[in-house]
Amino acid sequence: MKNFIDIHSEEDIPEIWRKTPIGALLRYHNLGAPLPPRSDKPELLIGMCMDSRKQLRIPDNFAFILRTGGANLRLSEFRVSYAIAVGGVRAIALMGHTQCGMSGLLNRREIFISGLIDVGWTRKDAESHFDSLAPQHEIGPEGDFIRAETRRLRLLYPKIIVAPLLYRIEDGSVAWLKE
Ligand SMILES: [Zn+2]
Repeated sequence: MKNFIDIHSEEDIPEIWRKTPIGALLRYHNLGAPLPPRSDKPELLIGMCMDSRKQLRIPDNFAFILRTGGANLRLSEFRVSYAIAVGGVRAIALMGHTQCGMSGLLNRREIFISGLIDVGWTRKDAESHFDSLAPQHEIGPEGDFIRAETRRLRLLYPKIIVAPLLYRIEDGSVAWLKE
């Protein structure tokens, strides 16, 4: 079952977000809204994956962007707090994506280890590197992870808008992950 909603028009943007920076992000990226040369100040924190297959269409200075494996912000909490407390943003776009490498990491254990051996690591060090750190980087199914992270961030920052989104590698659009 499809667990996301495509955003093709203004009406597709959930009403609660239309007047927020989340609505602006969706208009810039999905609906081709004109880009101002530069935003006056950052309005949004975007948490997204480090994956190379993603390019957002947004104005300069519009958003802080934290890129991590799988848009996992559990390991970046200080930076999230900084963007809110010092940077002044009041909205977070948490953006997972389809085909994420951080989903199902165990399937890539051997590639990971042999890749490090290729660049000079010992097998023992490479194995222990993977085995000790993979569990905190594994996200499981992308949509489920982003929804759970959204709930966690809302509890942590109750006055901040947090939107669960999904970048679709297939067509480069950003969809809303139904909650
Ligand atoms: Zn990814």
